[in-house]
Order: sequence, then C-alpha cells, then structure tokens
Amino acid sequence: MERSKKIVLVSHCILNQNTVVNPLARAKGAYVDIVTELMKKGIGIHQLPCPEYRYLGLKRDPMTKEQYETEAFRSLNKNISKDAVNIVKEYINSGYDVIGIVGINESPTCSINGEKGIFMEELLQALEKEDIKLKLIDVPSDYYDGVQGESFIKIFSDFIK
Ligand code: SF4
Repeated sequence: MERSKKIVLVSHCILNQNTVVNPLARAKGAYVDIVTELMKKGIGIHQLPCPEYRYLGLKRDPMTKEQYETEAFRSLNKNISKDAVNIVKEYINSGYDVIGIVGINESPTCSINGEKGIFMEELLQALEKEDIKLKLIDVPSDYYDGVQGESFIKIFSDFIK
C-alpha cells in the first residue's frame, strides 16, 4: 500500500496519558479525538519521549519550570532533542512531509506557545540549527476529548490539512 509520507511529532502524553503527573491526566490512555483526526487523514504519528517520565518516573510531584531547571534535566532534553532532529532529518531527506509538532500548553516541559517548556526550548533550538522550520501547535490546558475539545479539534484539523 502507498504510504501517505506525512508525519506529525506529538508530545508523548497525547498518546499515553499514563505518564502525566498525578493528578493531571485528562484521559484514560490517548486523547482519542486528536488521534482519530490523524488516523482519518492517514498521517503517521511520531511519539516523542516523555522527558519528565525519563527524569523522575511515575511517582514525581507536579513541578514548575524553575524546579525542573537543572543541568541534568537540560542535558536529558538536549539528548532527546538531538535524537528527534535526526529522525526528522531522515524523514525530510526521504521526501516525507513532517507536518509539525504538537505540544502541551502550560507544561513546564512540553509547552510551545506562551512560555516554552524546557524540552520544547531545546527541540526548537536544535531544529533551528539545522534550518528546519515546522508548524507548531499546543493542546490547550483545558482540552478534554468530547464536547469540551470540539473547538480545538476544528483548529487541529486545519493544522494537519
Ligand atoms: S513531560 Fe511532556 S510528554 Fe511528559 S507528561 Fe508532561 S507534557 Fe506530557
């Protein structure tokens, strides 16, 4: 079967809310409505690693960006970003359309809009160094599947057109 050759990079917890810090999970597993939009359009989903999970595991407490601002966490995010950029480059060099990155608004790690999270700061810098510009969008902090998320799904559907 012909591939769509379209890929989107998503923050880990869009597909797996089980890594989200207690008690902030907003779905049992994936954000079904967001994933459904991608599946309907035949877009491949590249799940980025969850930096907070890798750093502190599942028993971590909610923390601010300032609290995460350590050399070790920066360095972890730089490494994850380097790996992600290599993956993006391989797609682009092979003629794929890397549509963009989906972050999580207001996350100290994965927020793109407003104050950037530490991972997104590192990832966007690493992409810029390679002269790669991708479209960017965040899942809003009040997003839930269903009626509450309908307006975002419309915006998201345009984003992945
Ligand atoms: S660090 Fe990023 S991927 Fe992990 S739970 Fe937080 S927002 Fe989601």
